[in-house]
Amino acid sequence: MTSLPNSTASRDIAYHFHPYTNARKHESEGPLVIVKGKGIHVFDEQGQEYIEGMAGLWSTSLGFGEQRLIDAATKQMHELPYYHAFNHKVSTPSVDLAEKLIELAPVKMSKVAFANSGSEANDSVVKFVWYYNNALDRPEKKKIISRIKGYHGVTVASGSMTGLPANHADFDLPITNILHTSCPHYYRFGLEGETEEDFATRMAADLEQMIQEEGPETVAAFIAEPVMGAGGVIVPPATYWEKIQAVLAKYDILLVADEVICGFGRTGESFGSVTFGIKPDIMVMAKALSSSYLPISAVMIADKVYQALADNSAKIGTFGHGYTYAGHPVSAAVALETLKIYEERRLFDHARAVGQHLQAGLRGFADRPFVGEVRGIGLIGAVELVADKAAKTPFDPIGKVGAYLVGRAQAHGLILRNLGDSVAFSPPLIITEAQVDDMLERFGKALEDTQDWLA
Ligand code: PLP
Repeated sequence: MTSLPNSTASRDIAYHFHPYTNARKHESEGPLVIVKGKGIHVFDEQGQEYIEGMAGLWSTSLGFGEQRLIDAATKQMHELPYYHAFNHKVSTPSVDLAEKLIELAPVKMSKVAFANSGSEANDSVVKFVWYYNNALDRPEKKKIISRIKGYHGVTVASGSMTGLPANHADFDLPITNILHTSCPHYYRFGLEGETEEDFATRMAADLEQMIQEEGPETVAAFIAEPVMGAGGVIVPPATYWEKIQAVLAKYDILLVADEVICGFGRTGESFGSVTFGIKPDIMVMAKALSSSYLPISAVMIADKVYQALADNSAKIGTFGHGYTYAGHPVSAAVALETLKIYEERRLFDHARAVGQHLQAGLRGFADRPFVGEVRGIGLIGAVELVADKAAKTPFDPIGKVGAYLVGRAQAHGLILRNLGDSVAFSPPLIITEAQVDDMLERFGKALEDTQDWLA
């Protein structure tokens, strides 16, 4: 990389330790510095335009430069730039937002607790679940089951629930009481001759076997994303969710839906839970809650959970958990405005309609060499590359070809993300059909470059 001594890139290398980055590679290659965004596009320092095919990190649902969000933040900054919710205090925007979220919830929910990120919200969930079972005098019912390839964040507890090797290796994770059951990826883990429904039955049987082996009286909760995101965009096989929920109901195990990616239109419905008929006891949301213009996340809890937490807080004298910035009024004001825009512009319907166009377009790549599987729903999708299509053999090492493809996409003005050799798509919900076509044309060029490179 040739960057000038005082450039942003060289100062980035000098001073900034990046998340999710190979630090040594970064020292030699440096960053792509993004300086501006407008709609679905971002621009680098040289003025080069890119389609943000991932909406940042599956997050900027309204795209860049939405004036109404800027105005909502400015207005709230003037009125009350900060307040908290400890010790019976509160700011109005956080109350308005809590009320609105309860109204939007796909199942009857009782209360909303706020945090700042998906990881923090999921850490709160772990503590809520443990506290809940202590409150109910079931101190042994503490284990939480998530899934291999599930993604729930990176803090100590949420990173433990995440089921990806890079989030555990050398971080001394997972902590105790966190278990991982099978990943419901039919293409990868379905057996020869096994139907999707039979595969789903086997996934539910795996879960039930784990519960029985551990002892149902020790298992407190099951956490899952309706569609797995960072694990590779894995859409559950037909009948999966009804079978999983039947197992959980049998053993009095709480169901936590991690809607951090799926929530607010991504799957073409308000929540992934609606798309897949999930009836959670706890729901977690972040990212598109504020279109990611400011950090805010939320945990919604059902009344049976709230009642136990409330009783125990009265017994102890306080609920000894909460963040300085939880329900931050400026973040809450921006989130409220975001939700208003979703409704006024009917963006969930829009995501469903344009999502069909995206899915059809992506499936147009299924016949290409090295494309093993194309999958997705709504405005989330992935193209998985394999060394041998018939045998579904992955490349060795996994991720090298995916990274090459993403690099070529960037050269053609499209920012995507490879999860191993699966290249993910999650554009802003505001994307139009014509812009989807533009995005897929750029992707097609990158795919051709990759095919040439592999030939
Ligand atoms: N849960 C899911 C499903 C996510 O996709 C993510 C982040 O991508 C998180 C939790 C963690 O959120 P954050 O990065 O805001 O901590």
